[in-house]
Amino acid sequence: MPGSAANVDDAEIARFEALAHRWWDPTGDFRPLHDINPLRVDYIAERCTLDGAAAVDVGCGGGLVAEAMAVRGANVTGIDMGETPLTVARLHARESGLDIDYRQQTAEDLATAQPGSFDVVCCLEMLEHVPDPASTVKACAAMAKPGAHLFFSTINRNPKAYLMAILGAEYVLGLLPRGTHDYRKFLKPAELSGFVRQAGLTLIEIRGMRYNPFSHRASLSHDVDVNYLLYARKD
Ligand code: SAH
Repeated sequence: MPGSAANVDDAEIARFEALAHRWWDPTGDFRPLHDINPLRVDYIAERCTLDGAAAVDVGCGGGLVAEAMAVRGANVTGIDMGETPLTVARLHARESGLDIDYRQQTAEDLATAQPGSFDVVCCLEMLEHVPDPASTVKACAAMAKPGAHLFFSTINRNPKAYLMAILGAEYVLGLLPRGTHDYRKFLKPAELSGFVRQAGLTLIEIRGMRYNPFSHRASLSHDVDVNYLLYARKD
């Protein structure tokens, strides 16, 4: 990747822009994100103190994770390259009475502007939409304070993940709009772990996230075949 600003896929951003007005509809196009949100945020809250923490949500979209962290007392910054998701996020935060600093910025640019600034860094369901995920992970590490907690989540790359996350979710069940995910951009846990280590972070844990598309329930598991979460620390 030549310049840091180049780590954006315009077609990906356009896809999220087109759907953004439905972001907070719990039964709409972003339903799976709503369904997994309490699980992801509980996972984060059980591993670090959010109250009073400087937290950043990288690729925040309409702000599901950003708001949940703000409700728990964190001072939250949310960045995304989509203008419409950010507009939706700002309006929704105002309705919720939350003060969140939303910015249209890449992870790389925020890391350059504010290195070593955040106690908690989240980058959830976003790495599979960027051209150079290793660069995003490196930027997340750079914006984190020493001792910070970092959380990443994405989708594994194997036939089962293709079947569940693309064929099943997009084509059979219609849970997600077709074209939401590109199989080639899915990341194996070993690949993401490699990016995390190259960024100088210490990998603490990888957990599977199981999602039942019929009951819409999500739970943690030890099966990382499809969706998974990675927790790391900065020394
Ligand atoms: N993290 C949120 C949203 C996930 S959807 C959640 O889990 O609830 C992925 C988001 O990443 C979209 O809002 C999209 O606009 C954003 N995105 C994709 N590429 C990006 C990039 N290069 N820089 C910043 N945000 C990006």
